[in-house]
Amino acid sequence: MRIVGWLCVLIGTLNLMNVFLGENGFLPMSVFAPVFWVTLIVGYFCFAKLKEKEIEKEKEKEKEVNKAALAYLLQQTAKVRPKTVQVAELHQQKTYWENYKSCNPTIASDIENLLNVNFSELSEIDVKEKIASVERLAKNLKCEISQIKSTYLAEIEKYPVELIPQIIEMTSRDLVKEVSTFHVSQDNTMSAMMITWLKERHEQFGKPSAKINDAFTEDEMEFVKRLNPYTTDVADLRERLKSLREMSVLFRCSMSELHDFYINDLRKNYDGKYENFHWLLDAFKDMVDKAYEVAPRVGLKPSNTSYGILCDWLFDFITEERKRFVDIGQVRCDMCGSHDIKLDLFTGYFVCNSCKREFGGI
Ligand SMILES: [Zn+2]
Repeated sequence: MRIVGWLCVLIGTLNLMNVFLGENGFLPMSVFAPVFWVTLIVGYFCFAKLKEKEIEKEKEKEKEVNKAALAYLLQQTAKVRPKTVQVAELHQQKTYWENYKSCNPTIASDIENLLNVNFSELSEIDVKEKIASVERLAKNLKCEISQIKSTYLAEIEKYPVELIPQIIEMTSRDLVKEVSTFHVSQDNTMSAMMITWLKERHEQFGKPSAKINDAFTEDEMEFVKRLNPYTTDVADLRERLKSLREMSVLFRCSMSELHDFYINDLRKNYDGKYENFHWLLDAFKDMVDKAYEVAPRVGLKPSNTSYGILCDWLFDFITEERKRFVDIGQVRCDMCGSHDIKLDLFTGYFVCNSCKREFGGI
């Protein structure tokens, strides 16, 4: 291509010289005129093509250089990257439980043994909630995680096995509170753990016992009759006696001390001020609900359950409080504002003498 190019330039030059020589030229003008133009054009294209090829070559060279530079760059970064990538990938791959286990191997193994659950198969949220509940329970019981179950059961062993259904009942109430307080699912609460252990113990030792159900001493029967002078039905008295016995074990005091024990406990939450009187009414309503809820489970009439008995005592207390408030003139009608209040003879509620409104009822 280069040779053809130069040849064309040569022919073109000869042609140009011929033009300058004019009529004295070595060849006639008519022969060289078309040759000049053809060679000029061919020459131009030859050089243009040549230039194009050179540019392409340059570009290819540049590409190769770039490629090599890129390869070098990758090689260099690869030397640095592996470590960071590895660490990052490890962190991404490790689950919450695996991380916890690697940081606290002994505690992790204690927790798994305690709950008898393979934590690797649980979802991350279940793992987190269960760990939090176990840690909370250890704190409450003031013991190591490995000691939780034995410490809790040692406490439960103080009560007769017959009371375990009632303790399960109470613990189920705590479970509902725990769910709303700590925002955990029911299965991950500490109450759920305790209920599992209570059920285990009940299955193991809770054979039907005649002791609490049937064998009442004469003294006990006399006591329950004195306590419930208006109850003549023997079946009711026996049911009440059963509940009183259970309460005396739970509250750790004799049956005769139960009433005072309860009232003292009540006074800790209620300060005797009229503006807080409604607290007693709310507590009464709550207790009635519990009595009806528990009754079918323990096979007693609602009024004969421990909650039913507490309702009676609370009602007597409320009646005394109403009298006291009327006597000291603290009651104020919430309709007309009058302090001229009396007690209704039949219902025991407050009645306003001015507007006849009846209030403070249950
Ligand atoms: Zn009134």
